[in-house]
Amino acid sequence: MSLVNDGWIKTTCAYCGVGCGVEARPKLTGELEIRGDQSHPSNYGKLCTKGIALGDTIIHDGRILAPTKKSQTGDQQTDDEELNWENATQMVAEQFTQAIERYGPDSVAFYVSGQLLTEDYYVANKLIKGFIGTSNIDSNSRLCMASSVVGHKRAFGSDSVPVCYEDLEHAEMIVMVGSNLAWCHPVLFQRLRSAKQNNPELKIVVIDPRETESCTIADYHLALKSGSDVALFNGLLSFLSRHNYLDQDFIQSHTNQLEKALTAAESDSDLLEAATGLTQSELMRFFKDFSTTSNVVTVYSQGVNQSSIGSDKVNSILNCHLASGKIGQVGSGPFSVTGQPNAMGGREVGALANTLASHMEFDNPEHHALISNFWQTENLATKPGLKAVDLFDAMAEGKIKAVWIMATNPMVSLPDSAKIKKALKTCPFVVVSDCIADTETTRMADLVLPAQGWSEKSGTLTNSERRISRQRRIMPSPGMAKPDWWIISQVACKMGYRDAFTYRHEGEIFREYAELSTQGNRNGERDFTLIGLTQLDEQGYSQLVPQQWPVTQVQKEVINQRLFSDGHFYTPDNKANFVPVRHQPPKTTCDSRYPLLLNTGRTRDQWHTMSRTGLSARLGEHKSEPYVQIHPKTAKEHSVQRNQMIKLHNAHGECLARAEITEQIQPNQLFMPIHWNNATAKNSKPCNLIAPHTDNHSGQPEFKHSPVALTVCKHQSRASFASRTVMNFNSLDYWARQKIAEGYLYHIESTLNAYELASYLKSQLKHNVDRVVSHESSEDEALYRFITFVEDKVMQAIHVQSIQGVHPINELSNILTARFSAESESEILAVL
Ligand code: SF4
Repeated sequence: MSLVNDGWIKTTCAYCGVGCGVEARPKLTGELEIRGDQSHPSNYGKLCTKGIALGDTIIHDGRILAPTKKSQTGDQQTDDEELNWENATQMVAEQFTQAIERYGPDSVAFYVSGQLLTEDYYVANKLIKGFIGTSNIDSNSRLCMASSVVGHKRAFGSDSVPVCYEDLEHAEMIVMVGSNLAWCHPVLFQRLRSAKQNNPELKIVVIDPRETESCTIADYHLALKSGSDVALFNGLLSFLSRHNYLDQDFIQSHTNQLEKALTAAESDSDLLEAATGLTQSELMRFFKDFSTTSNVVTVYSQGVNQSSIGSDKVNSILNCHLASGKIGQVGSGPFSVTGQPNAMGGREVGALANTLASHMEFDNPEHHALISNFWQTENLATKPGLKAVDLFDAMAEGKIKAVWIMATNPMVSLPDSAKIKKALKTCPFVVVSDCIADTETTRMADLVLPAQGWSEKSGTLTNSERRISRQRRIMPSPGMAKPDWWIISQVACKMGYRDAFTYRHEGEIFREYAELSTQGNRNGERDFTLIGLTQLDEQGYSQLVPQQWPVTQVQKEVINQRLFSDGHFYTPDNKANFVPVRHQPPKTTCDSRYPLLLNTGRTRDQWHTMSRTGLSARLGEHKSEPYVQIHPKTAKEHSVQRNQMIKLHNAHGECLARAEITEQIQPNQLFMPIHWNNATAKNSKPCNLIAPHTDNHSGQPEFKHSPVALTVCKHQSRASFASRTVMNFNSLDYWARQKIAEGYLYHIESTLNAYELASYLKSQLKHNVDRVVSHESSEDEALYRFITFVEDKVMQAIHVQSIQGVHPINELSNILTARFSAESESEILAVL
């Protein structure tokens, strides 16, 4: 396979866990052409909107260009000082060493990310667990699939996804549970839609409180009550048993504890309809379809995992697949789709606080000895560390003296943002490695380190079907940006661990990681092995084509292998475990004070905290502002009009968003996307409202179930403000920033009247312009327009009107977006 053809270089998408193959070609202008990789088995040439727009996001706007020491952090203005790498890494090494000497290894922590490549992840985990001697390393993957990790380990004895993507095409029935695949894993959804077109008999069922885009190809949608998945799947397990659909041969030969799981499931049978809110006929239809169909894939995601009972939800699904033998066969199996591009890689290297490296475990002394020996260390941590929410709790209590945050934005993504802010303020030394200069988390840092971003860094990542793909370096890095593994290794050397961190190239790290997977694993004791890749030389690593683990020899062609096809699991007796689980209501419920239930999730065209996708003008067009979905009945009860700004609030905080009235959501429920935050909007971060309730086993927070109250904002005026440069409107009641071609568009609302708002915005116009054109209408019309020019080029364009103004809000934005780059004054005035 040629990796470079006519200048096209094969790499992998930066976003979701589908892990699509991408081909990229730099242009002389510095831009990057993007197309799907026809040969990659994840996507066979297809890309979604985010993947197609990858080239838009390589602009150097807002990048961190040098290690930067901040004299003050948080809301205060900083007086930044640039450092060279020698001094910056020395500072990190000294701060961590001092904390460890004074307070012990558990006083320091790393908070890492599924955006890291496997080589970065491996080195971070090796340093902190292997040499510093604490397991206080957790990944933001804790927020997306930790419950699946627990579920897999409890049932299979290993954290392993059994299926392949092609099972979607071989299945006779697909169940999507708590997964809006259409928006969150779009290329998998495209594969599913094609499978349905090719085989109209393929049954597709969506189980979700919301009617999402994924329902467009579904045979039916079960709008169950939030948090009732265990009750539903316990009902299915009871049905399988009562109606003789159990696979007795499989159960007898390959499983334990069915009786206990059945007893637990039967105990929930009386509450099935009340707990799920589904009718008897809806339930029977689903139960019969699942039971009578041989090949069923159950795809599940954050609606299952992000719950205070997420692990039990996962096991309730796995129980049904084990009971019916629908696992390990072509077209059958439970399928946890991961959110992040390398969440799976993080699980493999052990970058979660409660696992050792390479699928080895703390409670196994042999594993501990194997890793200690392999890394040649006497310091390997002996017990699990703090999981994400607990870690930041400990930090807020002053127990963590130094933290290193890599490639993630916990100020936006963790629950209870106010507490995260307190934690980072309390921690004496906060170092953040990132590629974007201004995020809510870099604002809290004492030291910011410039990391390479997508298209600059090189390494591997593992997708949701256990397939390892190369991400390749295509563009030079701006400024002093470096790979994360290099930065960590430099710090490790300065902390005195030079012998173990002498890496010169990411390929060396990968070989070591592959070799570790073979330790104590020569006879297939663990399913995760890369034994076939331990001899890769530099050229072999450079040319590596996608490999699906277990890799027993280099895979020159695409192969699809399912786990557990032979009924062999990785528990002590090699049998799978049924896990008895019972329905439990979520930890918080609505009451008269907080009567509405807030669910959170993603939009189609943004990714996480928008620090990358927010750079693309075309991605900004899909949803340009934070919004909240609300049912028409609920909107009426709360006097909410379409497109009105509303404030959601509860004991944890408040959040602003524009009302999107839709019957896709149930009455008294709300849905809000997670992406907007204080860097891209004023007070529009749903994590302000989310309680830090977590699953007892996985530590995964409950993001899908927050009781809130709603108030309509009493805004009098609104404005659209297009600018070539980033503006600061924090003194106004509300703003949201949208990237547009050659600039930014601010959507603004205010309690000021239109005249007052216009006066304020006029005062914000740039002074170094050649001329300002103003159009101020009569007071009755309350319409104000200003345009600034440098020579004939529009620099800023503002349109202000009263809240009941003549222009519908979308039209106004479209006008400014479309005309901002207009050269002609008359042209822009005509539409403004
Ligand atoms: Fe990237 Fe995921 Fe879209 Fe594929 S589906 S192009 S991996 S965001």
